[in-house]
Amino acid sequence: MGICPYCKQHITLDDVKIEKKGKGIISQNRMYVCPFCESILGFSDAMR
Ligand SMILES: [Zn+2]
Repeated sequence: MGICPYCKQHITLDDVKIEKKGKGIISQNRMYVCPFCESILGFSDAMR
């Protein structure tokens, strides 16, 4: 996945936290959160 721009830790897809935002209809919106500093790395909606 890369390096967190906030805490400079190496992050892999296995480490990254994926928070699903919204319930029901807009549940496709995913939020990627750094597992080390809990900063929001980005969003991806409807991407699989
Ligand atoms: Zn971080």
